[in-house]
Amino acid sequence: MAKHQFQTEANQILNLMIHSLYSNKEIFIRELVSNASDALDKLNMLVLTDDKYKDVAFNPRIDIVANKEAKTLTIKDSGIGMNEEDLMNNLGTIAKSGTKAFLENLSGDQKEDSNLIGQFGVGFYACFMVAHKVEVTTKKAGEDQAFLWTSEGTGEFELENTTQDGHGTTIVMHLNDDEDEFLETYRVESIIKKYSNHIPFPIFMDKEKHIPAVMDDEGKEELEPSRTEMENEQINRANALWTIAKKDVTDDEYKDFYSSIAHSSEEPLTWMHNKAEGAVEYTTLFYIPSKAPMDMYRVDYQTGIKLYINRVFITDDEKELMPTYLRFLRGVIDSKDLPLNVSREILQSNAVMNKIQKSSVKKVLSELAKMSKKDSAKYDEFYKEFGNVLKEGLYSDFENREKILELMKFNTINSDETVMIEDFVKNIDEEKKEIYYITGKTSLAMLKNSPALERFKARNIDVLVLNEEVDTIIFPMVTDYKEYKLVPVADAKFEESEEEKKAEEEVAKTYEGLAKEFKEALGDAVKSVETTSELTDSPVAIKIDKEDPTYMMAQMMKQMGQ
Ligand code: ADP
Ligand code: MG
Repeated sequence: MAKHQFQTEANQILNLMIHSLYSNKEIFIRELVSNASDALDKLNMLVLTDDKYKDVAFNPRIDIVANKEAKTLTIKDSGIGMNEEDLMNNLGTIAKSGTKAFLENLSGDQKEDSNLIGQFGVGFYACFMVAHKVEVTTKKAGEDQAFLWTSEGTGEFELENTTQDGHGTTIVMHLNDDEDEFLETYRVESIIKKYSNHIPFPIFMDKEKHIPAVMDDEGKEELEPSRTEMENEQINRANALWTIAKKDVTDDEYKDFYSSIAHSSEEPLTWMHNKAEGAVEYTTLFYIPSKAPMDMYRVDYQTGIKLYINRVFITDDEKELMPTYLRFLRGVIDSKDLPLNVSREILQSNAVMNKIQKSSVKKVLSELAKMSKKDSAKYDEFYKEFGNVLKEGLYSDFENREKILELMKFNTINSDETVMIEDFVKNIDEEKKEIYYITGKTSLAMLKNSPALERFKARNIDVLVLNEEVDTIIFPMVTDYKEYKLVPVADAKFEESEEEKKAEEEVAKTYEGLAKEFKEALGDAVKSVETTSELTDSPVAIKIDKEDPTYMMAQMMKQMGQ
């Protein structure tokens, strides 16, 4: 028997589980069942694709046993199992990217933190919320040695050799005194129904069954008394929800499935279930979460899309499955038309996969467009959380730029509420066909009051006011929308009326001396000082020469976070 220390991050998570999380403990069942299901997925694929596993029997099932005397809850699977190295790596450390960020994000607030836990999916360690001792017995498919991993969740775990018939993993949790509820069959069953009803494998549990008394023919005399018997029953539907026809799935079922695949206890904002038939057959079920995942702006964000090939799980760690500007999506892509032994490299250049991706993106964008028109309140919620991520598509997805632009909500100088570009262009000068915009990383109110907008206000021309940091980077790359040109306010040219021309000359004459004095006073701090009649309300404005190398350098440094 050997003792090992948990890695620091794992220890921190464990401490959290043991000492500070008291709400929503039931999710530990969801997490362990999800791991069992993942282990079955992995073995399923190997058995189908790898000769090494051709003699391994794949009898997928998950068994749950509650023992009231011993106060233990056991979850057992016939999946891939773990060898010594797997145990050391998987149940002693947290390899997951973003662990640090997760730990830093914790607020100390019970409710918020348990939501974060759900998002982060810290999985296995969740069992220490309810157990003071956990034993994992496991044997990897195709290998001979079985192992017993034991821990009380306090700093260290033990590892020793043991024996076991067949491959798979059994997790025995010794429950804390006040966690008896998790020994009640009906309670466990209801948790399974809530979170794991539609994982693709059956979950079994012993259930008490009432057997009525046997009566004689006249129904008067009791030949055998009534009794209860234990019967092993499947307690989930195990039907891979995405394969069921839309009309046969209830909203609650969709929501429950979201909880199991997104490891979230929050309801999704919406979902899109689509079955495509034709040259390429595939099914997609995409969810939009109601809250942005906390790692959304991290380079090492976790993807939320699982790829299945004819119900066999392939990967959930492939960033190319959907474009990055849709990285908030959670869900499933399943197709019969991909080869089972598809590798990562093949996946990226696979024509079928590309087709699925293209059509899926179009579908998601059109569903969003529908939502923006039919349910603006819901769309506002979506936009608040994900608008800026979606916006990234304006430069990364040229093909769909117009559609993405139509999903943006813009502030303008003339309206107090945001407008969509389709409505904005209705009021545009049909001769010029120019959409003017101003960008700047400042408050909306400040930007709306920018001196650069005065000549537009004077002409009563509306302008898009873009005050997000990403706007300053993205919009200069967006040059047109349909037959309209997008023009930054600094580049807008208007025909001057006779009156304006006269005024310009007047101003120049009057202030020539003053401009000179300004230039002398400011010296090299400015390139030049000029007079203008473009400003109507403000005395001065700073004008930037975008071609100026120092300006461009400053912008680049800013983008690099300097
Ligand atoms: P995640 O599932 O997100 O990877 P977990 O903490 O839930 O994180 O699990 C950690 C790892 O432990 C898994 O990735 C898997 O490799 C391993 N593991 C956990 N439970 C099982 C199991 N029942 N069978 C095989 N491997 C498992
Ligand atoms: Mg897990």
